[in-house]
Amino acid sequence: MQVSNVKEIEIYCQYCKTETRMSVMRPGPSSDSHWLKCKQCSLYKLINVNELTEMGKKQAEIKKKKLANSEQPVTTESVPDYDARRTFLKGQKLYHPGFKDCGTIKKVSQGSGDFQKILVKFEHVGEKLLVQSIS
Ligand SMILES: [Zn+2]
Repeated sequence: MQVSNVKEIEIYCQYCKTETRMSVMRPGPSSDSHWLKCKQCSLYKLINVNELTEMGKKQAEIKKKKLANSEQPVTTESVPDYDARRTFLKGQKLYHPGFKDCGTIKKVSQGSGDFQKILVKFEHVGEKLLVQSIS
């Protein structure tokens, strides 16, 4: 049975009595078993190959998800504060410190002089017409 794609796995160690990292070693005494070696206590544990493959897949998925999340952090910190001296674009998100609310810019239209009007749909306070400078 091929488990070459799994080199390390997080699993409960009955000696350490905790979840620990184990290296995937060599095939076990039966065709569907495999040896793991605990990285903490260096003792061996026999595991079913199917179980090992399943765990490997699951942990790879978790890793992938963690990676995807770290690429696109969904935090309010990534949303810029509204400031009339800044220029925002249609579709951009902003945070209004006065309303303490996040919104999305629905429309940008010409205002007077060096100012544009922006229509922002806020999550709690609803739609608001704000101004911004044209830089
Ligand atoms: Zn251990």
